Amino acid sequence: MKQTDLLILGGGASGLCAAISAKRADPNASVLLLEQLPRVGKKILATGNGRCNLGNQNAGAHPYANKAFVRGVFAQLDTDDLLAFFRSLGLYTRADSEGRLYPLSNTAASVLDALRLECARLGVETLCETRAEAVKKTAGGFVVNGRFSAPKIIVCCGGCAAPAQGSDGSGFALLRSLGHEITPLKPSLVQLTTDVKNIRALKGVRAAAKLTLSTGGEAQGEVLFTDYGLSGIAAMDLSRFVQPGKSATVKLDFLPDFSQEKLAEILAEMRQKNPALPTENLLTGFVPKALGLAVLKTALPAAPQTAASIQPNEIKKIAAELKGFSLALTGTKGFTHAQVTAGGASVKQFDRRTLGSRVCPGLFACGEVLDVDGGCGGFNLEWAFLSGLIAGKSAADYSKKIKETI
Ligand SMILES: Cc1cc2nc3c(=O)[nH]c(=O)nc-3n(C[C@H](O)[C@H](O)[C@H](O)COP(=O)(O)OP(=O)(O)OC[C@H]3O[C@@H](n4cnc5c(N)ncnc54)[C@H](O)[C@@H]3O)c2cc1C
Repeated sequence: MKQTDLLILGGGASGLCAAISAKRADPNASVLLLEQLPRVGKKILATGNGRCNLGNQNAGAHPYANKAFVRGVFAQLDTDDLLAFFRSLGLYTRADSEGRLYPLSNTAASVLDALRLECARLGVETLCETRAEAVKKTAGGFVVNGRFSAPKIIVCCGGCAAPAQGSDGSGFALLRSLGHEITPLKPSLVQLTTDVKNIRALKGVRAAAKLTLSTGGEAQGEVLFTDYGLSGIAAMDLSRFVQPGKSATVKLDFLPDFSQEKLAEILAEMRQKNPALPTENLLTGFVPKALGLAVLKTALPAAPQTAASIQPNEIKKIAAELKGFSLALTGTKGFTHAQVTAGGASVKQFDRRTLGSRVCPGLFACGEVLDVDGGCGGFNLEWAFLSGLIAGKSAADYSKKIKETI
């Protein structure tokens, strides 16, 4: 049996941060990190399209799931602390106009390298290709796979999203076996599948839009039309609101800054000033041409050739379609394609100051395995990094407490 002071299950964004912060807090304590893949941090490399959107300047105000719990965590460490932490690793960042934070190098590999090298410098022992299959609570703490034992453990195996990058949901089973409740799981930040009848010609077209789900929820930003439905940041953000198994419609407003009346007025004026304008060009000043054609076809299946022949009620229909292009939602692309898992280990069973378990003393959890998820923009990595730093420090302090009481 290999004995260690702290066992960390999962070498992703949160696990690497937990290892670093535990070692920094208690350099003499031994920390062993188990990772089931051949290398740690594989998912980090895929984030932000390889650029790693590692945080967001507006994280504190973001509507995370279980916001009150997240607020409690962020009350201890916030975005400034995250950036200071990365600077302590020699990693500098920049923000874009929407507050999204990226490494200055613009490559995710820099972020993983910085975390990996710090783990190595601090003497964190890492065992790859080692999957935590079973955890047993014992009088002295925890035993994993009957091979590794420690008085404290941090579970940071991620969720079910993007299983090709290691997170296959096994962390939930481990936590459940130790008395933890897992809230319903669903893929989030994932592409939407819809009826494609009216968007067949739009594959590859991008547009700005405000999206509204008939069952509640909205998102704004870029949408990308695909052969299965919708992708792009706005569609991914809207997926947070999808209720699996419940039928719904997605309404796309391509001109959220114009009222329907104002649009109808502008189109009527265009028709008056340029009656010979081919109808197919009527919307080219507003939306990409292919999208304009799809909108016209849906609004007026038998559109007249020129603007002059469009009737006033047809102008209203076109304006309405630009503001409310509807697609029936059929589902999402599922966990395989999702960036995040919504749901997870119930936060009610964790102390938001320490991320320590209330039902299993000596156990800590961080990152996506907890029931916390956010939207696109760096919010999920920021949660993973900051919760990892807190769980690592708490676990180190907890071990000090144990030592002090002996
Ligand atoms: C394609 C993609 C792009 C993304 N881009 C962004 C972005 O730009 N910004 C952002 O904020 N978020 C992004 N995310 C989300 C973000 O990557 C995750 O929220 C974050 O990585 C979660 O960190 P984690 O440590 O909790 O879990 P993970 O990063 O999933 O790490 C969990 C680790 O545990 C290991 N593991 C799992 N089970 C076991 C076990 N039983 N035994 C041992 N090891 C185990 C896994 O192999 C994995 O290495 C993206 C996600 C994807 C899939």
